[in-house]
Amino acid sequence: MRELSRKLAGIPPSATLEISNLARQMEKKGVPVISLSIGEPDFDTPQHIKDACIRALEAGETHYAPSNGIPELIDAIASKISRDNGFSCTPDQVIVTCGAKDAIYDAMEAVLNPGDEVIILDPAWVSYEPCVMIAGGRPIHHPLNTRTFQVDDSILERITPRTKMVVINSPSNPSGAVLDEGSLRTIADMCTDFDLIALSDEIYEKLIYGKKHVSLASLGDMAERTITINGFSKAYAMTGWRLGYAVAPLPIIRQMSKVQQHSVSHPTTFAMYGGIAALTCDQSCVEVMRKEFQRRRDYLVQELLLMGYTVAPADGAFYAYLKVEGDDMEVARRWLEDLHVAVTPGSAFHTPGWERISYATSMENLKEAVRRIRRAT
Ligand code: PMP
Ligand code: GLU
Repeated sequence: MRELSRKLAGIPPSATLEISNLARQMEKKGVPVISLSIGEPDFDTPQHIKDACIRALEAGETHYAPSNGIPELIDAIASKISRDNGFSCTPDQVIVTCGAKDAIYDAMEAVLNPGDEVIILDPAWVSYEPCVMIAGGRPIHHPLNTRTFQVDDSILERITPRTKMVVINSPSNPSGAVLDEGSLRTIADMCTDFDLIALSDEIYEKLIYGKKHVSLASLGDMAERTITINGFSKAYAMTGWRLGYAVAPLPIIRQMSKVQQHSVSHPTTFAMYGGIAALTCDQSCVEVMRKEFQRRRDYLVQELLLMGYTVAPADGAFYAYLKVEGDDMEVARRWLEDLHVAVTPGSAFHTPGWERISYATSMENLKEAVRRIRRAT
């Protein structure tokens, strides 16, 4: 066969998806695996959201839709942004995508030229670096201090004449850390001083325990240079719906729109009706799930601390990030093979020596996983 795409050669498959696939295969063979590998709410999508989608299907909403998304959903997103995020946008600054991941991919394609450098804060979610590389950019990793997981002026050492963009993610997957206002101001000042574009992935904004979420675009004139990414997967338990969105300055949205039009066209039409219900109906379902995640977090973090592990802040999202002795890939392999507990090694997030445990699973599963991990500790 002819040589296939060189730009994909150095890109690994998604570790989060690979490990959960492996755990699923083991389960199918009858191995009693507890999968704490993937970040996916175990809750069902709330009924009123499903009903809105079913109504749309029955009403014949089975055709192509406007490629940036249906106007009612775009309006609902624009209203949500001014209500929740401390800045405002016009409807033409919104694009609805096939999940937040697709919005990140489109954004990289929209902004980067070959060799443009993108600063990524480590530990970082698995797909940022591949999205940068597929778009021809160069990922530049900036390791955060693994005690505070906050940003300080040392990030300025990563700036070169090729720096184009910085990616932030708060609350963070995998650390659970929430960036404080000082960190966000450092990022904002850097973007202004060096004329950078920021990509702020805020998909876990609603899953936060005691801290306050601040959108980067709400600071100063950051809305003029920030691509805010969000979606429905985490807050509304809608991972399989593949629905997300981006809010950005108009020239960037126009570019993202071209990527979308020539690839997926737009997200599934009837799924978008579920998205409208999610954003416009009573939000108490989000709080019910958030509270349950908090209960699980409290339990899991306390147990890990009692076992003597160092655990990252866990102020948001649904991950406990813990330091382990020895090679994290080897530890994850041992836990899977010997304990039948699937977790994601920190190497996947550019921080070897850590493991990510997703607590988006039942309390019963968590308790059993804790019993098994205690045996190995
Ligand atoms: N960003 C982060 C930080 C995530 O953890 C995820 C989880 N998949 C995504 C983006 C993508 O979410 P979606 O399901 O909306 O594509
Ligand atoms: N974001 C989740 C995770 O990190 C889902 C899997 C993925 O999309 O990578 O596990």
